[in-house]
Amino acid sequence: MRAPDPVALELTERAAVMDWPTLAAAASTCTACPELAAARQHVVVGDVPVSGRPRLAIIGEAPGATEDETGRPFVGRSGALLDQLLGEAGLDRAETAVLNVVKCRPPGNRTPKSPEVARCSGWLRRQLDLLDPPAVLALGLSSAKWFLGPGTVLGQARGRAHEVDGRRVWVTYHPSAAIRFGPRGAPRAALVEDLATIAAEVGR
Ligand code: SF4
Repeated sequence: MRAPDPVALELTERAAVMDWPTLAAAASTCTACPELAAARQHVVVGDVPVSGRPRLAIIGEAPGATEDETGRPFVGRSGALLDQLLGEAGLDRAETAVLNVVKCRPPGNRTPKSPEVARCSGWLRRQLDLLDPPAVLALGLSSAKWFLGPGTVLGQARGRAHEVDGRRVWVTYHPSAAIRFGPRGAPRAALVEDLATIAAEVGR
């Protein structure tokens, strides 16, 4: 078994006692992943409702190019589609928290490496503790694996709620998959169906 990463452990311990402003400031200057820290423009800490507990936390994989430029999550093409489909399902993004498993853009939009996910997990864990959303929607396989484990198969895990740390967690396709397979593709249909189910669960 691989020994725990001391950098990940130290980050998790530090984050575990932070309030939101302290966490946001600390994450914004984090250099725990040297390759990502050297290449990024912004650490994308996440969007949260202006006031109150989010009805839903939406968790993606990592920032893309537009997110890296702006410092905000899901604002590129995937974000535009997500906003559209959330609206069609009757969910208001302003009432949700929008976060990522990894908060710095991996170069070339590659999949985040395991040590990067491990190191950034301390931030996300503390964000979820502080926000305490009753429901979580994991978008894409990396995010689904973060909640449900490395053997997760997206097509099998979607369509029902999973109980994780006292929260109801749904998983579904990332909007980028819906874009890649087109408006008539299976990922978009699944995403639409899953958002409708979640909207009914968390209340429109
Ligand atoms: S990805 Fe996360 S852990 Fe890695 S440098 Fe960025 S904020 Fe820090």
